[in-house]
Amino acid sequence: MSEPSIFSRILAGEIPSEIVGETDNAFAIRDIAPQAPVHLLVIPKTQDYRNVVELAAGDPDLLAELIGLANSLATEHTGGDFRLVFNTGPSAGQTVFHVHAHLLGGELDEKSLR
Ligand code: 5GP
Repeated sequence: MSEPSIFSRILAGEIPSEIVGETDNAFAIRDIAPQAPVHLLVIPKTQDYRNVVELAAGDPDLLAELIGLANSLATEHTGGDFRLVFNTGPSAGQTVFHVHAHLLGGELDEKSLR
């Protein structure tokens, strides 16, 4: 068993962060360093999957649950439109190897990905 990730520690209440949305198998928090007017992280409760490719192969239902939670949160926080970003690998900017979606919304720059 690997060390608990930062997100597992938040879920366990060891590191403070408000849970802004939750399903049976996923939860969402605000990013500590927001890159958009709305910037949430949507995260499976399990840290079994390091990235979205592993998640899609290993548990597609959980990936669908993540996207469903993102959609519900977007309705609540952005009025509906949103961008989902899964950084996959260090050179793509991934720093936490517990799969998570960046849910970005608000007035986004059309040309940049963040
Ligand atoms: P990645 O770089 O892996 O795609 O995304 C990790 C994200 O987690 C970053 O955007 C970073 O700001 C966020 N993050 C890192 N540590 C914490 C924390 O302790 N609390 C919260 N709320 N977000 C964090």
